[in-house]
Amino acid sequence: MRLFVAAQLPVELVDALAETSASLRSCVSGRFVGPDLFHVTLAFLGEVPAMQVTEVASLVRISCDGMPPFSTTLGALGSFGRRSQAVLWQGFSAGQDEWAELARRVRAGLDEGGFAYDGKGFLPHVTLMRRANVAHGTLPVPCVERGVVDTVVLYASDLSGPRPRYEPIECVKLQQDG
Ligand code: ATP
Ligand code: MG
Repeated sequence: MRLFVAAQLPVELVDALAETSASLRSCVSGRFVGPDLFHVTLAFLGEVPAMQVTEVASLVRISCDGMPPFSTTLGALGSFGRRSQAVLWQGFSAGQDEWAELARRVRAGLDEGGFAYDGKGFLPHVTLMRRANVAHGTLPVPCVERGVVDTVVLYASDLSGPRPRYEPIECVKLQQDG
């Protein structure tokens, strides 16, 4: 199974991101991510044998133990890759330390279980478009909103259909210790 661990976003943030996405429609061409699929990837594992999935799920659960929910605020737009075929995303202006701590915990948990993941540096972001042409023109001002992140999910990604499907395998609620 193709696995990744992501933070789920509260409805206020999804709505704001959807608004940013809507304003991109008039000025950038490319493939838009549906608002129902918005998320922040914390660790991308890729293919893992089905019989090891429950072990990954329990590592994710344990790694989030004692991590409290945290407040974050959407920030600027950014892009990865070639300017004609970019991944276009919206980042965060507040909550950076908590995002880094959450990703660090999840990745340390996977390390402990000996599960490999893409170890590139973590930059919290929500992908809004793929194959976006950002070579010309200016980007719109993004919609900015604050919200509380309280859920981490282990997803299986199914890319066999016309658009990606993410199936939740394990949902972990963040909670303060005690
Ligand atoms: P598609 O690949 O069809 O555009 P997708 O990227 O949404 O769909 P996946 O490729 O399964 O679906 O990726 C799931 C999540 O993991 C996405 O947030 C994606 O950006 C992220 N991801 C994919 N590959 C990597 C990688 N090598 N390193 C870090 N994150 C990745
Ligand atoms: Mg992908």
